[in-house]
Amino acid sequence: MAMATASLYYTASLPKKSLLKQSPLHFPGACVVRSAFSSLKITTSSSSSSSPPTVVVAATSAVEAEPQTAAAAPAKVLPFRVGHGFDLHRLEPGYPLIIGGINIPHDRGCEAHSDGDVLLHCVVDAILGALGLPDIGQIFPDTDPKWKGAASSVFMKEAVRLMHEAGYELGNLDATLILQRPKVSPHKEAIRSNLCKLLGADPSVVNLKAKTHEKVDSLGENRSIAAHTVVLLMRK
Ligand SMILES: [Zn+2]
Repeated sequence: MAMATASLYYTASLPKKSLLKQSPLHFPGACVVRSAFSSLKITTSSSSSSSPPTVVVAATSAVEAEPQTAAAAPAKVLPFRVGHGFDLHRLEPGYPLIIGGINIPHDRGCEAHSDGDVLLHCVVDAILGALGLPDIGQIFPDTDPKWKGAASSVFMKEAVRLMHEAGYELGNLDATLILQRPKVSPHKEAIRSNLCKLLGADPSVVNLKAKTHEKVDSLGENRSIAAHTVVLLMRK
């Protein structure tokens, strides 16, 4: 049985054009469709095996409608938006280790389609998440040869562009790197400085922490590297 989670819903395979126009986060091209969907809850109906499944889209924020109940109220243009990013890469010999756009000397690096910059990838995902957009893998798919070996600064620039286009600026960012080796401290300021440059942000709002994984699991055994990031975006 189809389930609607709000009092306003419609049945469709694509969002109506008017929905896109009224979406508070309006991006060009494919992102328009994705941003509209990202604000919707989708459930499928399987009540009949003889008919194709019906997609019921329950509007929670992107549809502008007469506010009859709290659940059907149109989306608010929020003064703040929070986003979280996480990324992990396998470490293999024969690859450079690039963190935050800085080449760090090590006996191994990240095996990835792009340059495998775990920190920039998770910062990008945090910004995209705050904007209610799809994740980095959907916007820059690793099946696209265009991104093979790409510097992750390209993804950062696009995320920052989307942030400004949506009318937001960085409030602050807090990132945590997790790796057993090498020590990050000698490179921390270079990484943070490059992050500030890519974000166009003051150093006082960009924080970087690093920790080991206590020699346990792949992270602690120098077989992988991970990062978490939280961002706060502020309406300009
Ligand atoms: Zn990544």
